[in-house]
Amino acid sequence: MKIQLERNLRAYPHRLRCIACEHPFAGGRARILLRHQSGSFAGDVCTGCLQLGISHIQGQLKARAVALFKQPLSDGSSPSPHKKALELWELATSPLVMPPFYYWWWQRLTIFAAETQDLKLVRRTLRDLRSHKSTLPTITFLTEEPHIGKDN
Ligand SMILES: [Zn+2]
Repeated sequence: MKIQLERNLRAYPHRLRCIACEHPFAGGRARILLRHQSGSFAGDVCTGCLQLGISHIQGQLKARAVALFKQPLSDGSSPSPHKKALELWELATSPLVMPPFYYWWWQRLTIFAAETQDLKLVRRTLRDLRSHKSTLPTITFLTEEPHIGKDN
């Protein structure tokens, strides 16, 4: 499995759930994603778990898998807890590569740049809208001439 920092394309803040500790947290401008070696999405990771490191994340995933294995099969939920447990166990036992520090730095920079581009696009669109809608009534405030100095 691998950890990636990606730009959050959904409107934020919204609620996310950490795949490792299962705690809900608010998604920000970037998402820390846990992916299978194949690149498919496994889940979100909270910053707390990320800071505690690889062994913590793997330990949490194993604990979750064990807890799911203990669940009865008859509850009829889909996907079945055992299937989910196997998936988590596979994730926990596959080697996890933590990206080097410059990766985080670069990704944050890229995310920031992308957001700035979006902002520019929004500003440009707004400006275009304003120039095209010249038929809109404009409000002009009539300012009175200052009286100070006139009476003397
Ligand atoms: Zn967590």
